[in-house]
Amino acid sequence: MLAFFALISLSIISCQEKRASSEKSGIAISFDDHFIDDWYALRPLLQKYNAHVTFFLTCPDTLTSDEADKIKQLQKDGHEIGFHGTLHGNATEMIRSHGPQKYVEMELEPGLKHLAEIGVRPTSYAHPGGNHTDQADSILLANGFKILRDVAQAERKLLGIPVYHFAPSIMKWIYYRFNKEQIVDALMIDEGTNISEKEIKEALKKARDTNTAIMVFGHQPLYEKPKNGAYGFSVAFLETILKEAKTQNLKFYTMSELSTSK
Ligand SMILES: [Zn+2]
Repeated sequence: MLAFFALISLSIISCQEKRASSEKSGIAISFDDHFIDDWYALRPLLQKYNAHVTFFLTCPDTLTSDEADKIKQLQKDGHEIGFHGTLHGNATEMIRSHGPQKYVEMELEPGLKHLAEIGVRPTSYAHPGGNHTDQADSILLANGFKILRDVAQAERKLLGIPVYHFAPSIMKWIYYRFNKEQIVDALMIDEGTNISEKEIKEALKKARDTNTAIMVFGHQPLYEKPKNGAYGFSVAFLETILKEAKTQNLKFYTMSELSTSK
């Protein structure tokens, strides 16, 4: 009998522990480049799931006034506007050819100035092309960015043949452990990365079970298969992710919220 009560109390404790230990679990979704109209069109979908995401904008010097208004509205909605470079340059090559000072002057300062003019002061950075070095990272951190995002791919192909395919749930590096890490990887969900619905649902469940935040990102929202060189993710796949995030009771984090979350 004693053993029976011990078993019951043990199971109560383990339930409570489980509940307490998943309280931070979440998801950080981001989008890269300059698909402002298409991102803006995602607003009803994001609102439907009360999702807050990060838009990493590149080439902000070419913003039209309409695009600037849309960026400001997205920010007002509670989304984060991150930075993705003025020229979308290759950091390694730029620093090698021009030196660190010119890299700052060419790739960081002009775009940030344009964004500041419309009231946007980014604190997160996504490396263009996922290219970076320790030196580029330290320059970015010294320039006020709190978190730097790189690219993780579940599948890589060589001459059209997959070289590897990871189930996202085993990719430990796409989960934020709330350890103040500032250099992180997000899973690319674009078409062609061949992540199944089952795999992504398992990956979100993993975040729930490990009290971490899964980081995913894509480029252009697409409503049909990509053509004419378009690169982006299926909006239906994004909705699968949003729906599963709700099912797993995951919190939505913007990228800067990850590094500042206690
Ligand atoms: Zn990019």
